[in-house]
Amino acid sequence: MKPDVIIAGAGIGGLACALCLEKQGFTTLILEKSHVPAEAGAGIQLGPNAFHILKHLGLEQELAQQAQFPEKIVMYDANSGTALAHMPLIPHMQRRHNAPYAVIHRADLHKILRLRVENSHRIELKYSSALATFNDESGSVVVKTVGGEEFRARVLVGADGLWSTVREQVLGDGPPQYTGQVAWRTVVRRDSVAEMFKAQQTCLWLGQRAHLVHYPISRGQLLNIVAIVEMPTPPHGWSTIGQAYELLPWFKNWAQPACDLLQQVKEWRIWALYDRNPASVWSSGHVTLLGDAAHPMLPFLAQGGAMAIEDAWVLAAHLKKNLSNPETALRAYETLRTPRTGRVSETARSNATMFHLSGHQRLMRNIALKASRAAPGMLLKKYDWLYGYNALDDC
Ligand SMILES: Cc1cc2nc3c(=O)[nH]c(=O)nc-3n(C[C@H](O)[C@H](O)[C@H](O)COP(=O)(O)OP(=O)(O)OC[C@H]3O[C@@H](n4cnc5c(N)ncnc54)[C@H](O)[C@@H]3O)c2cc1C
Repeated sequence: MKPDVIIAGAGIGGLACALCLEKQGFTTLILEKSHVPAEAGAGIQLGPNAFHILKHLGLEQELAQQAQFPEKIVMYDANSGTALAHMPLIPHMQRRHNAPYAVIHRADLHKILRLRVENSHRIELKYSSALATFNDESGSVVVKTVGGEEFRARVLVGADGLWSTVREQVLGDGPPQYTGQVAWRTVVRRDSVAEMFKAQQTCLWLGQRAHLVHYPISRGQLLNIVAIVEMPTPPHGWSTIGQAYELLPWFKNWAQPACDLLQQVKEWRIWALYDRNPASVWSSGHVTLLGDAAHPMLPFLAQGGAMAIEDAWVLAAHLKKNLSNPETALRAYETLRTPRTGRVSETARSNATMFHLSGHQRLMRNIALKASRAAPGMLLKKYDWLYGYNALDDC
């Protein structure tokens, strides 16, 4: 197969991109560095803005089988254990934005995308094929892998994540910055947790210099737990194993139910969190970036993966519109995407502050959140710009 487009990276962004390109009639070669399909053993939330595109790709049925659909997002004050506010999801998201709010195990989402990719005669996926360098020659891009293989296509998309090799060559703007935050992730059996954690809800506990998120995944059998703490220096390595005794001191003044939940976890995976200041340029010639390679962001709006999925649709649609001039298509793509991903990234950063307030500021935040209980629809409305966006309508 002669690919129209080469994608570096078979994460959620790279796979979604190949499927969106297929929908527009393009052929794609995906080069993936790892030897086997891999995704973190954790959950991911998918707002209606991501769901629209996955549905358009014909994946609705698979998602309905694997995903959970929380009734609401509940916010607690971590010290008192008081529920401060909630954002209703069912049936409001569907009614308001014509798509649901879902939570799913990453491995399940990755598998749904991958199976569709593997069944396509327009997409080839090669493992153990790390992109090393590329040359943007007249009218096409020649990609070289670490193993010395060469491939040619009209366009190269760097969907190679946070530490993107493609970005290094396109923008050369150095490594992403450590944000001072570390995510501790785990999953536990849902039948082993206290009754309050069995609810069909996404829960967010706001503490001082720490917060906690949990929601059910894997057809309700598992509870996904993410504890975020502030650490001045990043732990060594990526996705390393963490012990409970190292984490628990951050939570010592927390309400008992949250402490009990954390205490029953034996093992954690630790992820230092990095991001970048939003960039206004992602492309050069026939090469562009997508997903975390383009806009790594803090996970405090649960939108990094969703942004990658939106990118995928917009990129494919613009390439279709400008078949004869990919350079123009890539410019149009980044012009449409950079303001939105920049806003999401900035909002995630401001949540990093808001979630971890202490003293007087914490009290003020709690009062404001409690006041929102009188009209929970107001919280939903605040996020219309985010969840109400449908990339399919935009191009
Ligand atoms: C704690 C946490 C919670 C999160 N929660 C959410 C959430 O609820 N909702 C949400 O939407 N997002 C969430 N995110 C963000 C989301 O996980 C990421 O934004 C998303 O996974 C990015 O996908 P990607 O495909 O761009 O990159 P990645 O998933 O990093 O994929 C990159 C792929 O490229 C491959 N690769 C790397 N280098 C090369 C190379 N040189 N050649 C070939 N292949 C290469 C890698 O092996 C990998 O497979 C969360 C993130 C964290 C850390």
